Amino acid sequence: MSVTESISKYNLELGDVELIAVSKTKPISAIMEAYEAGQRHFGENKIQELAAKYEELPKDIQWHMIGTVQTNKIKYIAPFVHMVHGVDRRKVLVELNKQAVKCSRTIKSLLQVQIASEDTKSGLSEGELRELVGQLDDFPNAEVVGLMGMATNTKDMNLVNSEFARLKDLYDELGTTRNWNTLSMGMSGDYKLAIENGSTHVRIGSSIFGARND
Ligand SMILES: *Cc1c(COP(=O)(O)O)cnc(C)c1O
Repeated sequence: MSVTESISKYNLELGDVELIAVSKTKPISAIMEAYEAGQRHFGENKIQELAAKYEELPKDIQWHMIGTVQTNKIKYIAPFVHMVHGVDRRKVLVELNKQAVKCSRTIKSLLQVQIASEDTKSGLSEGELRELVGQLDDFPNAEVVGLMGMATNTKDMNLVNSEFARLKDLYDELGTTRNWNTLSMGMSGDYKLAIENGSTHVRIGSSIFGARND
C-alpha cells in the first residue's frame, strides 16, 4: 500500500482517534506524500531530526516529540513543537517549562508510564507517576494533558491488552479532575487493542511508511 493509501485507510478506520504518523528515519519526500494526503500530525523520536524536518516542511504540521527527551536539546524544538509525549522524569518538565516560558508559549506534554513488563522501555513507575502528578502546578507552561505508554513487544495480545487497560485506569483515576484529554497508546502492531482500551492518539510508523532499519 502506498503512503497516500495508508493515510486514507487510517483516517476512515480511526474516526475520532488522532493519527500521529511516525516519520522517524523517513525522508522529506515520504512526509510530503502523507502531507498531500491530508496528514498534519507527525511524530519523531530524536530532537535534532525533528528540528531539521521542521525547517524544511510546511509550517502547519503539528510535530509530536515521541522519544526519550534529552533536556539540553529541548531549546531546539520549544518554539514550535505541538506536544512532547516522553516526559519520564521531573527534569524534563523543569526544562520544558523553562524553555516554553522563554518562547512565551505553553507546550502540551504527556507523562510516559512504564507499562511494559520488559524493562527496556522507559517511563515512570506508578509511584513516580503519582508523585510527579502532585507537582504539576509547578510547571504551568509545560501543560500535562495526559499519559503515554508503550506495551510489551510481543505476540501475546492478552498481555498487551492488560498493559493498555492498566494505563487507561491510571489515566481515568488521575486525569478526570485535571481535564486530561490525551491518552497516547498504540503503534502499528497493537493500535486496535489500544483503541479498544480508550486510546485517543495512536502513533503509527512502519505500516504507513514501511519498515525501518532500527
Ligand atoms: C517508532 C515509534 C512508534 C511507531 O512504531 P511502528 O511500529 O513503526 O508503528 C510509536 N511510538 C514510539 C514511541 C516510537 O518510538
